[in-house]
Amino acid sequence: MMRADGDPREELLGLVRLLAERVRADGEMGRALSYLVREQEPVEAAVVAGSAAAEPAVGGHAALDGVRAALGDCRRCLLHRTRHHLVFGEGSPQAELVFVGEAPGADEDAQGRPFVGNAGQLLTKIIGAMGLRREEVYICNILKCRPPGNRNPQPDEIISCEPFLIRQLQVIQPKVICALGTFAAHTLLKSEAPISVLRGRFHSYQGIPLMPTYHPAYLLRNPGAKKQVWEDVQMVMQALRQERR
Ligand code: SF4
Repeated sequence: MMRADGDPREELLGLVRLLAERVRADGEMGRALSYLVREQEPVEAAVVAGSAAAEPAVGGHAALDGVRAALGDCRRCLLHRTRHHLVFGEGSPQAELVFVGEAPGADEDAQGRPFVGNAGQLLTKIIGAMGLRREEVYICNILKCRPPGNRNPQPDEIISCEPFLIRQLQVIQPKVICALGTFAAHTLLKSEAPISVLRGRFHSYQGIPLMPTYHPAYLLRNPGAKKQVWEDVQMVMQALRQERR
């Protein structure tokens, strides 16, 4: 906030401007006046700052349920207006491997489950080829609600939704993360490099090895890239084997 250098009129003017900004932002986001809705504050703070219910030490389904409960009937961004189902994620809370995609598509929005459409079936095959079952890994997305027409996620949507992904990863504490596609890789790595440059080698997300690779939906359109994805997931399998030693 701008300093008023001790002039009370300037200070008051600054506060009025700040209040006007908050009202405008809340109006654009279609939410209640956030500074007046005190009963929501503990829930929000619990997720962002880390609640006892979601601490890694608790582990398991209960901690993930706590994150889901904090998300509630989320209206933190405008995507809540067009979604049919919020898609939180699914799989093992003790998963060694977490796949993070971009956002739900039409099938996922209809069923409330991640990666269940054509791209999801391909991901399930990839997981099987790795010698794993879907129930053994965890699958989620950067955004929990479908962008209309599968458009790209917007920066404000990612900012609103990312705290919940962060808490999911903190609860699960996977040994390896696989980021599927550009938006997952960019969001987790805070990088803007093309996915073609990022893939093929491990990066670090909060000390966890992270492998970016192409999104299965991209593979459906570009089957020639399957070879590169297979190279990436082989490196993931090798890293998991090393972690188990
Ligand atoms: S995309 Fe995320 S932040 Fe936006 S409404 Fe859905 S759950 Fe909430």
